[in-house]
Amino acid sequence: VNPDQTYAERTTESLAHMERAQAVMPGGMTANIKHFAPYPLAIKKANGCKLYDVDHNEYIDYLMGYGALALGHAHPYVCQSISRQIEEDGTWLFGTPHEKEVTMASRIQKHFPSMELLRYANSGTEANLLALRLAMAHTKKYKIAKFEGHYHGAIDKLLVSVHPTPTEAGIHQSPHSVSDSSGMSQEDVDNTVVLPFNDAESCARILEQHGNDVAAVIIEPMESGIIAPKPGFLQQLRKITNRLGIVLIFDEVKTAFRTSLAGVQGLYGVTPDLTTMGKVVGGGFPFGVVGGKREIMEQSSPLKGSDFFADGSQDHHEQKALFHSGTYNGHPLILAAGIATLDILESEFNALVTRTEWFKKELSALFQKYDIPMKTLGSGTMFSVLLTEREEISSYRDLQLCDHKSRVKLDKALFEAGIYTKPGNRYSLSVEHDEHALAQTLKAYEKVIPEVLL
Ligand code: PLP
Repeated sequence: VNPDQTYAERTTESLAHMERAQAVMPGGMTANIKHFAPYPLAIKKANGCKLYDVDHNEYIDYLMGYGALALGHAHPYVCQSISRQIEEDGTWLFGTPHEKEVTMASRIQKHFPSMELLRYANSGTEANLLALRLAMAHTKKYKIAKFEGHYHGAIDKLLVSVHPTPTEAGIHQSPHSVSDSSGMSQEDVDNTVVLPFNDAESCARILEQHGNDVAAVIIEPMESGIIAPKPGFLQQLRKITNRLGIVLIFDEVKTAFRTSLAGVQGLYGVTPDLTTMGKVVGGGFPFGVVGGKREIMEQSSPLKGSDFFADGSQDHHEQKALFHSGTYNGHPLILAAGIATLDILESEFNALVTRTEWFKKELSALFQKYDIPMKTLGSGTMFSVLLTEREEISSYRDLQLCDHKSRVKLDKALFEAGIYTKPGNRYSLSVEHDEHALAQTLKAYEKVIPEVLL
């Protein structure tokens, strides 16, 4: 099959949509990552684990809002919770403190005890911005260290070496700092130190070189949400950062309530200074959380430093509080959706992990039947399908060596058989992916593998 040819025949309305979109938005997109060639599907509606495009094609959705929808689309319990918020409390925005802010904090702390105090934001990106500011204020140092291949949102200091090409990246043990976007200052790039994942010795050497200047090490503790840390790696990173007085930030935006209810830190028993999260915990709405050590978080307390009040007066203390704000922080509707999501996940998570494991095993068996090297990588309810013969995938560079082109071809052919993820992306399952949906997906794979990969 020529996936692109069939795609064009079945998606004429998506193409028409894209032409209209391009007239009003750069590239027709609201986010660069939503694009894929020749043009993405335009979606009309969704329900449970299904997506429906503007051409009335139906798909089982494995993108699940880039992993945010752990309960599927429009779960009735979440819908009720949102309606109740509006009916009983009368609005969707107070602009003042309210009960759900406290309820959500204790629900998160139950699973993430390292988050002694918490603050809310409106995305994973915003959560990471606050985490960096907290770390810089706490240490009075201003360089940041991050890992090659790790994504933390569209933040200038962190859009560094997310997707470096092999020619610009330098050697694995000493990766270069490479800008991922135009419009960033060279100063931001130079002030971001890049580390190699799963290589504690190199991390120690690089951080010692910059140790007096580095405020924070930020890491996706399971790289790209799927590559596990080697035994002892996170523990060693914890030791190095403690020794050098560097704040350790675990970005669990992808992994919180996906790799386990307690995230990667729960699985590996390592306690960061700060944790950020988003996606699942917002129930599919814009949400971000920062939390961690009391002494670091308390810098943002308006009770501590000098702060201006709305009446123009000023509370006099020697030091300014660390400023953090947002009109929508702690939005009642989002907290209603997030708390409802945790209610369901707490009882259904283990069963969903078991279904995911079964699905991964069946997929592997199918590829084995056709003698095509394939690996599923990831844990909990999220994984990726990697076309590779490599035994070990332990960093961004290993991931780059997988056959990404064939994977994209496979995904596009799977569209024809009613299976959707953004070509090349991870699979995120939801409680709505029942045995029937998974069996239908395996059948689609069975049809498409020989057509595309043999
Ligand atoms: N951090 C990680 C690990 C992510 O995967 C993402 C988004 O995919 C972000 C941060 C940014 O979150 P958001 O898109 O909510 O701003």
